[in-house]
Amino acid sequence: MRSLSLGYFLSAVNALVFFFPTILFFPALVTYPASIVLRGWGWRSLRSRLGPVGLLYTAIWCLGVLTYLALTLSFLEMFRDGIWVALAAWAVYSILEASLYLRAAGKLRIRLLYASPINLAGVGTLGALIVMMWSQFRFPSEVRYGDLTPLFFGGAACLVASALITAVAALQIRAEKPTGERELESLLVTLPRSTPPQPPTRPTTRPKEALTARTSRTALIGLEVVSRGDMLVCPKCGASAPIGAESCPECGERFKKAASGLRCPVCEAPFSVAKPISAGHYVCGQCFSDIRVVSRAS
Ligand SMILES: [Zn+2]
Ligand SMILES: [Zn+2]
Repeated sequence: MRSLSLGYFLSAVNALVFFFPTILFFPALVTYPASIVLRGWGWRSLRSRLGPVGLLYTAIWCLGVLTYLALTLSFLEMFRDGIWVALAAWAVYSILEASLYLRAAGKLRIRLLYASPINLAGVGTLGALIVMMWSQFRFPSEVRYGDLTPLFFGGAACLVASALITAVAALQIRAEKPTGERELESLLVTLPRSTPPQPPTRPTTRPKEALTARTSRTALIGLEVVSRGDMLVCPKCGASAPIGAESCPECGERFKKAASGLRCPVCEAPFSVAKPISAGHYVCGQCFSDIRVVSRAS
């Protein structure tokens, strides 16, 4: 997940503008939009694994662009109230982005991402301070704006920390690990041996047939699709491609196809890339179809 990681790294650089406004103002004009594009792109490539929440990548793109345009126009004094639009858009997409962090943390099992929503503490603090300054809010007592400096830097530090945490966590996002033959073996053991009771009228050759069938292990079980995945996910870079694609459109990695044996009924990936969810229930590691193992003897 290099694009996602790079996007958040740029976002961290960007958030440092609150600490070094004079040095980083102009770089931020480039790092901010680049980070929005990359973050949206990175989340987009994970969308098929995150369910409906995964579609929030579009919000990052749309509201990120809106934030950037509104801020730029406001600094150019072409749109004085742009700062309010930018603040609102920033707050909304930050909240949506935090729900992506939490969803990915649970779904992709990357615990570090549970720490990423501290960006909301930063957005809240900085947002409130900016609103107070721009609206020239006067404190009733002797509090001065200078006294709020620690709060300001604290909020900015939350943004930097969140972006760095997410950049590191994004590096841990990989395609599902292949399960290997071991799971298949244990599966064969746990499957109910539902050979129908032998009626006494059957000819005596029947037990011998059953025995030969069992010697070829895969002949006894089949795979049944519970729900079809609609995308192939590249095991190397995480990009998605339509079912039936030969290779990844991003990095060129060839998708796996098994010519024979147990394979995913949707994308034909060998069963070794499937990941167990519960006994007899698997998810294809390439197209994320839900697969149930059925015993053919039953
Ligand atoms: Zn790829
Ligand atoms: Zn599949």
